[in-house]
Amino acid sequence: MANLTSRHSKSRRDKRRANWKGEYPSLTVCTECKEMKRPHHICPSCGTYDKKKIILVDSK
Ligand SMILES: [Zn+2]
Repeated sequence: MANLTSRHSKSRRDKRRANWKGEYPSLTVCTECKEMKRPHHICPSCGTYDKKKIILVDSK
């Protein structure tokens, strides 16, 4: 494993982290109900994934 020759300053570390901190904005449209959902996740409004019903969701 490579050794660090010099450690970055707190300022450089924090500036790097400032770019990716938090947020997960990516959303796709569900193919079944056309609602917004997170990719590679079960749709929260109709409960399907890969065109298969996975969970039962109350649709009132
Ligand atoms: Zn859906």
